[in-house]
Amino acid sequence: MFVSCIYCVLKRINMTGGFQKLQPATPSFNQKGIAQSLQYGDVYHSTAGALAQTQHVFLAGNGLPERWQGRTHFSICETGFGLGNNFLVTWLSWLRDSDRSQRLHFVSFEAHPFQRDDLARMHEHASPELQPLVQQLLAQWPELLPGIHRLYFENERVTLTLVFGDIEQKAKLLDAQIDAFFLDGFAPRLNPQMWSRRLFGQLVRLSAKGATMASWCSAGQVRRDLRDAGFLIEKIPGFAHKREMIRGVLREKLGRQPNAIPKHVMVIGAGIAGAATAAALVRRGIRVTVVDPVLKSGAGASHLGHKAIAMTPLLSVDDAPRMRLSRAGMLVAARQWQHAEAMDCLPLGTVRVAVDADEDLAGRKAVETLGFPDAWVQYLDVEVMSQHVGGDVAHGGLYFPSAMRVQPDKLIERLLTHPNIGLLPTKVLKLEALETGWCAIVDTDSAEAGVLHADAVVLCVAGELSSLLPDSVHANKAYPYIEEMERLPGQVSYFVASEMAKKPTYIVAGEGYLLPEVEGLCTAGSTYGANGEPAQVTEQGHHEIRETLQRWKTWLASASIQGGWAGYRAALKDHLPLYAGGDQNLGIISGLGSNGFAWSAILAEDLAAAWNNEPRLLERDLSRALGLR
Ligand SMILES: Cc1cc2nc3c(=O)[nH]c(=O)nc-3n(C[C@H](O)[C@H](O)[C@H](O)COP(=O)(O)OP(=O)(O)OC[C@H]3O[C@@H](n4cnc5c(N)ncnc54)[C@H](O)[C@@H]3O)c2cc1C
Repeated sequence: MFVSCIYCVLKRINMTGGFQKLQPATPSFNQKGIAQSLQYGDVYHSTAGALAQTQHVFLAGNGLPERWQGRTHFSICETGFGLGNNFLVTWLSWLRDSDRSQRLHFVSFEAHPFQRDDLARMHEHASPELQPLVQQLLAQWPELLPGIHRLYFENERVTLTLVFGDIEQKAKLLDAQIDAFFLDGFAPRLNPQMWSRRLFGQLVRLSAKGATMASWCSAGQVRRDLRDAGFLIEKIPGFAHKREMIRGVLREKLGRQPNAIPKHVMVIGAGIAGAATAAALVRRGIRVTVVDPVLKSGAGASHLGHKAIAMTPLLSVDDAPRMRLSRAGMLVAARQWQHAEAMDCLPLGTVRVAVDADEDLAGRKAVETLGFPDAWVQYLDVEVMSQHVGGDVAHGGLYFPSAMRVQPDKLIERLLTHPNIGLLPTKVLKLEALETGWCAIVDTDSAEAGVLHADAVVLCVAGELSSLLPDSVHANKAYPYIEEMERLPGQVSYFVASEMAKKPTYIVAGEGYLLPEVEGLCTAGSTYGANGEPAQVTEQGHHEIRETLQRWKTWLASASIQGGWAGYRAALKDHLPLYAGGDQNLGIISGLGSNGFAWSAILAEDLAAAWNNEPRLLERDLSRALGLR
């Protein structure tokens, strides 16, 4: 059975959060040459200068730079990114401070982000001291897709988390522990959602102990609402022509304490979930031991002989959870796994021909409704599609320019290669919670000692999860979805590229898929067996795959098949993965089904962020939906 999941709509959970198309900002300057927003009819910064305003109102107003000095990390949240001046000036001040925190996290919301070229135009006359930072920001500026984007600077010591979308809706979905808030919306009368009681309530939820806030706006209603939410507010002299501004500190009883960051984490399972998790943790300075018997055959052994997989975004008109998760994962993978010199992860693009008229229509509607940038997805009508793929096609379909072809064994090996990642080729038999940390009983045949200790554990064991869940987790509660997790076997086949009439230079999909060649072979897939059947490459599987690829038969011509690869997909019945990352010392990333690569990227990065007290990358409603169930 072949499953086409791109248009899969999950009716069970209505979590699209009322999808809103992103409307980019239009570049504009007023008569005095000050950048202004046409959406809100207000200027982006004071006429007396953006940089001096940031210094006076937001940095000094929050007791910075002094408050970040000597800290391991310091997190700031700004309510409107605009041109990014507050971020740029904060970053510059942090760079110039020799006592700065080890890491600086800056979160900013923006309902109307600029396109990259427009942002560049708005910064054409930025001061020479800011120009180098502006260029780095522009180089990383994301495509305008809704959701959370994480940008990394200064060897990841400075992060910028951009949350694109309406702030009232998006603040509810963010998880972070913020030390200082920059309240910098347009004027309350023009931009009321930036100053609402509901938003202030969310800011208090996001606060770390001792959090502070500052704003140029000293309106009475804003002060009262901030007080009601939990800040002690005072008025102080404002910047330039503004007589007053406000600053505030969170009431003593409120705010979250940072978690203790684990020093040593045991990751059980060396598939893509385990490798992505180990890499995300070790980048943050945490020592990792990865345990898996397959490591006897090398770091990439969980996909030994698997030439290529596809990472293509999922898309549906309602932007359902699977689609949001896939988008978030692709964005993380593009930033973390894709490098100019890394041939194992290439953005070659995917052309997906609709299998019937309904799918064609659904694809067109999704593209129109979501309004995603062309760099992410384009609808190709039947004519354009036939020009694209050559020859007659019955339907149009979708083109995803940033979809990736990945060499799974090589990528996993690369992720696991780090001096602070230890590889232990053995099986974990049992996991026990200690007063602090965990103890794993391992198969003594292959391990030096029978017991392993770590401060924290991440279970990345796919379909074996149920047998390894520690008693402390499932003694008092049943998790039917975990109990019923399926292991669905499947295979891919390798066509000899030199014997094909036409070789794909991008991923082609629709009924089945065909990937650009790796080592002279084009991977084609895939079959789905029934739960419990063995995973093996068979002649019948090859035959099934060739039959499914009828659409591409002129490309395949009489090319022969030279072997294949078989494995399992661990899947839950709601087709969503299983993820527990919030608890300090037990993480779970499992049940990744057919989307293991994109989903591992986002879940691993989110878990590592959570354990390091960083702003999270996964929206809270998604996180909840993926929890133990
Ligand atoms: C034919 C086929 C084609 C596919 N194509 C794609 C594709 O194109 N794109 C895509 O994104 N996904 C694809 N997938 C799905 C993808 O392969 C999976 O989603 C992904 O590999 C799951 O990764 P994982 O790390 O969760 O699990 P696994 O790769 O299964 O790793 C789990 C590891 O845990 C180890 N383990 C289990 N129990 C223990 C224990 N007690 N102690 C120690 N270690 C243990 C196992 O040995 C194993 O190595 C495909 C799958 C198949 C079968």
